[in-house]
Amino acid sequence: TIGYFSYQLYREIHPKTQLPQSKTFENGSPRKNLVILGTGWGSVSLLQELDTTLYNVIIVSPRNYFLFTPLLPSTPVGTVNVKSIVEPIRSIIRRTKGSVVYYEAWATDIDPQNKQITVKSVFPGEQEDIKTIDYDYLVLSIGATSTTFNIPGVSENAIFMKEISDSEKVRSKIMKTIEKASFLPRDDPERRKLLNFLVVGGGPTGVEFAAELQDFIKQDLKKIMPEISQDIKVSLIEGLPNILNMFDKKLIDYTEKFLINEDVDLKLNTMVKKVNPDSIIAKCKGEEIELPYGVLVWSTGIKPQQLTLDTMKKLDEQTERRGLLIDDKLRLLGAQDSIFGIGDCTFHPGFVPTAQVAHQEGQYLAKTFQKLYEIDQLKWEQEQPNADINSIKTNIDKIESSIVDFKYAHMGSLAYIGGDKAIMDLNIAGAQYRLSGGNFVFWFWRSVYLSMCVSLRNRVLVTADWVRTFVFGRDSSV
Ligand code: NAD
Repeated sequence: TIGYFSYQLYREIHPKTQLPQSKTFENGSPRKNLVILGTGWGSVSLLQELDTTLYNVIIVSPRNYFLFTPLLPSTPVGTVNVKSIVEPIRSIIRRTKGSVVYYEAWATDIDPQNKQITVKSVFPGEQEDIKTIDYDYLVLSIGATSTTFNIPGVSENAIFMKEISDSEKVRSKIMKTIEKASFLPRDDPERRKLLNFLVVGGGPTGVEFAAELQDFIKQDLKKIMPEISQDIKVSLIEGLPNILNMFDKKLIDYTEKFLINEDVDLKLNTMVKKVNPDSIIAKCKGEEIELPYGVLVWSTGIKPQQLTLDTMKKLDEQTERRGLLIDDKLRLLGAQDSIFGIGDCTFHPGFVPTAQVAHQEGQYLAKTFQKLYEIDQLKWEQEQPNADINSIKTNIDKIESSIVDFKYAHMGSLAYIGGDKAIMDLNIAGAQYRLSGGNFVFWFWRSVYLSMCVSLRNRVLVTADWVRTFVFGRDSSV
């Protein structure tokens, strides 16, 4: 471990010199353009595994950093700082073997026929700069966006939990609402309304955020604003009979009991139908109920981005509204020769969109691109004078048949449920390990998340944040 960290530290301080991009390789064959859209889990896993000297790699994304999403619910209350779970894309591409070009821009259009994308710069207040980029291979890893299921009032009144900007909005709203409520007498109905904090969606994001919020109230606010901490009510609202539906039933039961014990007001079978500026209307056991709120966080899952929808329309083979259809080699149906899709922008009937899936898909694609490079080199050799066409063809066939299908290896799921407790549902070598509560599970959850961080810097900062929170508590400033 010491050797590994020393090497990582040495590489941070002394980065290797990168090979520059070029139109051709030394033998005169063309170096192909590999364009990657997105800077999330899929793209970064691909970048970290890819031999970037084999292509002219161009990344396009409006977000110039990678966000470690599993710890996002810890950020609004300050258990972990937002900057600790962010890694600038420029730092990531500085560590690759061959130099990589990055454009901070939105891809607005894909033209699969002419193998071209259109991108638009994203600098607020400045005139839009539009350019087209040619690709030989294109990887779509543009993720997805928060869904509202078209429920009226959600976009206007609720805050999502998907991006850094959401986390900052939630933090600001919580702290300001607390201060506003503390201005009012204890028996004022407005104060009671303000101190109703609602989290809609009992998936892992909603549960982890509600857990972090309750930790903040019980561990920190209790010391600095005891009356307010007693009067805040955190409600977790879920439309189905249970929360965390992807987990084993025993773990679900444990979590539900644990949250109730921690004073989280668990409202199951409660489907939100409408959101007003200061209340929600929900259907609960056939009845309509109204719940007033001071803070409303919305985490009911994801839906495709506009570019994903536009790309679907261009390809007849794309018949699924929930995401882009890909084959077993992650090639986009309708554009298998040149476009690949990974992560949350795609739709798999077999598994749910998670960081784990996107990570494995990125790693798989890096290997595929190594083989595609070898095939492209052989195809170029085939076209040279005096080429031994038959033997080259045999070699091409051999490499093509060695590209195996993508197989997702589900390692399991983990979730933090508050009060230094976590649940784990692990799948190791076919055996299932389901554990809840206890120090071991909590520290296991923390060590897995630390190991998943994409840089040494992130690991150091997250560890320092956990120590800071343990020693000094979370701070309540905005
Ligand atoms: P999700 O889709 O997992 O959960 C959303 C929940 O909201 C569902 O239980 C749904 O029934 C509920 N819901 C939807 N509409 C509702 C309404 N109108 N009223 C009340 N409830 C409603 O969403 P998520 O938690 O954002 O997760 C997104 C994806 O990321 C999932 O695939 C998830 O597995 C994954 N993820 C995993 C982890 C982890 O493993 N720790 C953490 C975060 C996200």
